[in-house]
Amino acid sequence: MRLIGHFIGGREVKGTSGRTADVFEPMTGTVQAKVDLATKAELRAAVENAKAAQPEWGATNPQRRVRVLMKFLELVARDNDALAELLAREHGKTLPDAKGDILRGVEVVEFALGIPQLMKGEYTEGAGPGIDIYSMRQPLGVVAGITPFNFPAMIPMWKFAPAIACGNAFILKPSERDPGVPMRLAELMLEAGLPPGILNVVNGDKEAVDAILDDPDIRAVGFVGSSPIAQYIYERAAATGKRAQCFGGAKNHAIIMPDADMDQTVDALVGAGYGAAGERCMAVSVAVPVGKTTADRLMEKLIPRVENLKIGPSIDPTADFGPLVTKEALNRVRNYVEIGIKEGAKLAVDGRGFKMQGYENGFYMGGCLFDNVTKDMRIYKEEIFGPVLSVVRAHDYDEALRLPSEHDYGNGVAIFTRDGDAARDFAARVNVGMVGINVPIPVPVAYYTFGGWKRSGFGDLNQYGPDSVRFYTKTKTVTSRWPSGVKEGAEFSIPTMK
Ligand code: NAD
Repeated sequence: MRLIGHFIGGREVKGTSGRTADVFEPMTGTVQAKVDLATKAELRAAVENAKAAQPEWGATNPQRRVRVLMKFLELVARDNDALAELLAREHGKTLPDAKGDILRGVEVVEFALGIPQLMKGEYTEGAGPGIDIYSMRQPLGVVAGITPFNFPAMIPMWKFAPAIACGNAFILKPSERDPGVPMRLAELMLEAGLPPGILNVVNGDKEAVDAILDDPDIRAVGFVGSSPIAQYIYERAAATGKRAQCFGGAKNHAIIMPDADMDQTVDALVGAGYGAAGERCMAVSVAVPVGKTTADRLMEKLIPRVENLKIGPSIDPTADFGPLVTKEALNRVRNYVEIGIKEGAKLAVDGRGFKMQGYENGFYMGGCLFDNVTKDMRIYKEEIFGPVLSVVRAHDYDEALRLPSEHDYGNGVAIFTRDGDAARDFAARVNVGMVGINVPIPVPVAYYTFGGWKRSGFGDLNQYGPDSVRFYTKTKTVTSRWPSGVKEGAEFSIPTMK
């Protein structure tokens, strides 16, 4: 059995807690590895390593720092197939989707190559008599990232690449469900020339997370995961004076206007609703057709597409999606389907009976589709995180606009229409952080930023893009005057611009 320890000070070390978690292979339902769960002392060892290594790394010129990231990109490309297979085997998503997971992380590493430019400060000559003023961005020191199971390559890279490029040392606490790829990424960073101690991986559960939150030497925490944990981390991190950005769950709506191209819309809905078995924070989980005719046209095309989704083991490159991550996740999603039926929604497609031949113990279920869902139902209010799409019929555009705007979550939303006026109005007024216009998964490119609103995001700076540079640096502002400058004598009142 593969044993996964921690990556501290540039090497893998075995855990000492005696506590481990099972890492499943979702496509077969077997335990394929055990991962050590760290104690507070093990987290502290990682912090000590990071703290010792950071000053020299922070003082290394930014071009040299990004050369390590350039080399890392080469190594990720070299090992892409092996990384994708490891990812698919631990997570359950298909191989092409695993490659997408890696690539969306790589794009943020590419963005971080611009750090020499992005970290530049500002300068004003002659801000006062003989006075020049300038600002500089400095790394925070040791920072941490706590990441979810559903993007084990992308989200760790979103976190550590900008942080390390800015000169920080990083402690990554990946999901205990699929820690293999994050560990490999840390090894590749070392191979690329990163000094030991700058990127550490501490595997674990709540105990490791709490140790991060309470550690006085960790200056910032970036979290991605479910909303209750995001809120908990935000509050506890703030209590110890850390910067925190915590991204949570989602309920992403797709509004379908009467003039939408229905074939394109249905393609978008099946891809974004069921891809990765719905285990994406930007998955479309609610479809909102506007008007009865639109709803009927949508259901007529959508039902056969959901019935014919191809579910397969992760290594089948022709599958639309694979199994869920764990048996627990599968049971939770199945339970939501029961709840929806009891609440009175109409189960138009029932995928619960799906069995994968040859993989009978895998965590599979077929796509489910609910019609006539209403906003008081739990299946509408709560995040299901599985291959289940709910159709909420809206009478008109205003009702459709209110649904995502008034929902507790505010991660992503999409509108399908040919009407530029409607799309423009929607983008301006909807109370959600990321909007797609005929784009179902509007994950912004790496040089914009990613962040949901309301219960989908706690804290004010987004992940990646220019916001990540702001998050992982502090600004220092220097006001200077040299002796040959204007002499004003002693000044006892607050200096003002005369
Ligand atoms: P999760 O909240 O269960 O776990 C996320 C991280 O928190 C993991 O590292 C886990 O070990 C840790 N954790 C879990 N329980 C904890 C506790 N009680 N105390 C302290 N730490 C704890 O989330 P998940 O199931 O791994 O991921 C799925 C969730 O992540 C979904 O809600 C999804 O929407 C969300 N997500 C959000 C985004 C985004 O950018 N908004 C992106 C991806 C996933």
